[in-house]
Amino acid sequence: MNGPTKPIILGIEGTAWNLSAAIVDTFDVIAEVTSTYVPPTGGIHPREASQHHADHIKSVISAVLANAENNGIAPGDINAIAFSQGPGLGPCLRTAATAARALSLSLDIPLIGVNHCVAHIEVGRWKTPSQDPVVLYVSGANSQVLAYRAGRYRVFGETLDIGIGNALDKFARGAGLQHPGGPKIEELANNASSYVPLPYVVKGMDFSFSGLSTAASAALETSSIEDVCFSFQETAFAMLVEVTERAVAHTGKNEILLAGGVGANMRLREMLEIMCNERGISFYVPERRFMGDNGSMIAYLGLLMFEQQTLLPLDESHVRPNYRPDDVVVTWRGH
Ligand code: AMP
Ligand code: MG
Repeated sequence: MNGPTKPIILGIEGTAWNLSAAIVDTFDVIAEVTSTYVPPTGGIHPREASQHHADHIKSVISAVLANAENNGIAPGDINAIAFSQGPGLGPCLRTAATAARALSLSLDIPLIGVNHCVAHIEVGRWKTPSQDPVVLYVSGANSQVLAYRAGRYRVFGETLDIGIGNALDKFARGAGLQHPGGPKIEELANNASSYVPLPYVVKGMDFSFSGLSTAASAALETSSIEDVCFSFQETAFAMLVEVTERAVAHTGKNEILLAGGVGANMRLREMLEIMCNERGISFYVPERRFMGDNGSMIAYLGLLMFEQQTLLPLDESHVRPNYRPDDVVVTWRGH
């Protein structure tokens, strides 16, 4: 077996509820260790999540370094430290950034500031045959339709209020389901018997989920939870598929890549697959471990940026809670 190939990058993800560190080379993940903050009740509290990250960062970094060492990689072999600079929850971002700065200084290697959304895209292009996709990125806080054009990932459509995952989680919490609500809603939806009309909100190429979540909560007074879960999914996913399809038609691209934790949903996948089959285009979904937030995607985009020497000086390494994917100048794609 061949050993790991240079460069080797350590990446730290900590935008929200997952604290995750990974070490990668060009070909694969060498080591990854994740610690997930699970709120005792309710949703994610930014300060509590960041306290979780602060409590676990040392053990997560030690464990990922130890795992890498078992695979023949010493700390001295690492070429750079990448971290999620944004978007995300400020207190969580600051904890991960502080660790990244400390590692960069102590190992005397460069720091790389990674945009979390773009990392979701690049890990998908790495771990599927996808090359130039329209991306549907659906997670807790984010919902966007993106595609590459002229040096940037352009946002073709996005949520006007909350992310689809947060909308599902908020509804689920109100219905007495435990966080995260998405998987429970999917399960209940499978036992539905009829569709309850809910607000379908697409404005231009953007969508909105807050009103849908509220209307779904209200519908629980007159309909079964199974029917409401089913109807929520059908309505929200149809909105997402409509905008994604229009982005495909507009750009002329012939691939769709699904990214983000909500991408685990089988009904969403099925609806996208039907649309792709009808249009004769390819549909790509990465392995589950690369869909939700993970350190590997940060390390991998860090690697692409390191190869272009797109480095981050320490005095510019402040976190960027509202960092947009279209703010990033893509230096690593040749066309
Ligand atoms: P992320 O922010 O990418 O880590 O994704 C987390 C979000 O994915 C949470 O809002 C979850 O409720 C949601 N999620 C996870 N699994 C599913 C699923 N099977 N269906 C719908 N949403 C899901
Ligand atoms: Mg994410």
